[in-house]
Amino acid sequence: MPVALITGITGQDGSYLCELLLSKGYTVHGLVRRTSNTVRSRLDRLFNDKEIYDKRLFLHYGDLDDVTTIRRVLMKTQPDELYHLAGQSHVGLSFEIPESTCQFTAMGTLRLLEIIRDMEKRPRLLHISSSEVFGRPDHSPQNELTPMRPVTPYGVAKTFATQMVQVYRDAFDCFACNAICYNHESPRRGESFVTRKITRAAAAISLGLQSTLSLGALDARRDWGDAQDYVEVMWRMLQQPVADDYVIGTGQTHSIEEFLSFAFEHVGLNWRDYVVIDAKFIRPTDVADMCGDPSKAKRVLEWQPKGDCRQLAERMVDHDLAAMRTQKSN
Ligand code: GDP
Repeated sequence: MPVALITGITGQDGSYLCELLLSKGYTVHGLVRRTSNTVRSRLDRLFNDKEIYDKRLFLHYGDLDDVTTIRRVLMKTQPDELYHLAGQSHVGLSFEIPESTCQFTAMGTLRLLEIIRDMEKRPRLLHISSSEVFGRPDHSPQNELTPMRPVTPYGVAKTFATQMVQVYRDAFDCFACNAICYNHESPRRGESFVTRKITRAAAAISLGLQSTLSLGALDARRDWGDAQDYVEVMWRMLQQPVADDYVIGTGQTHSIEEFLSFAFEHVGLNWRDYVVIDAKFIRPTDVADMCGDPSKAKRVLEWQPKGDCRQLAERMVDHDLAAMRTQKSN
């Protein structure tokens, strides 16, 4: 049975990837931060499954700045595949905490690469990179050859990590890949990201639990994909004979206004009646129009991005409605 280690296993992508790998017969180890209130709700079902937890799924505590612990976990688990998904993942927050964003996102990746480099049996590494590395590109859609010109602290940290992965692949012959992912959403998306903030608000307003929704810039456009679909492609990347980087996006963009329409129309409301603009959500610098060209992933990995953005928004609203109705009746 192959063995995988996932950093960031409790996050949106980590939880979907964990389910995918378990369904493929893997033994899965997860690295989690030692905090007093580790959020594990996305993995609750697996933790409560006696056939799985502590049999095929194991958790290890370790922060990305704690090299000795991470080394010990890697030595102990000897994974065949290492999926590095952890890090401070919020672009807006990276303006508030740039130093720790770099500590975890940039240096955390370098530390992992350094440990792998010294291992006798090296795991294959998948690093989740981000469209933020492209910053303000001069062409759209972007592909693997687009120059990296980040404009946010998060983007700079991700660029460092992405380029280090390339250096370790070229200089030290590590099997290390970058999945340069565009925004990807799901009912498990963190509540501070704009899509989930919108779908939760549409659900809450339609149930009479909330009256307004405060947002920042509405004209930004994003290439929003389906998170579950993206973890599948991450796995495919590590099954290839050669390590490489791939842009993972849908090739289509929508504005925040369009996403608002998808979510609010689904509950029979007009978003213009509820949205207020709050300057605190407007970023000092923002990437305006990001669109990923997934041609290489389609060609080499035989991957086809699934679903459309309206369906994704509706699925997220339905999830939030159901959760809020349950909460209301309890
Ligand atoms: P990002 O692309 O990784 O930064 O994902 P987000 O979901 O955090 O933000 C997507 C876009 O929505 C960015 O251009 C934000 O500036 C914009 N946006 C507008 N209002 C909000 C808000 O209230 N919260 C967040 N997170 N983003 C907002």
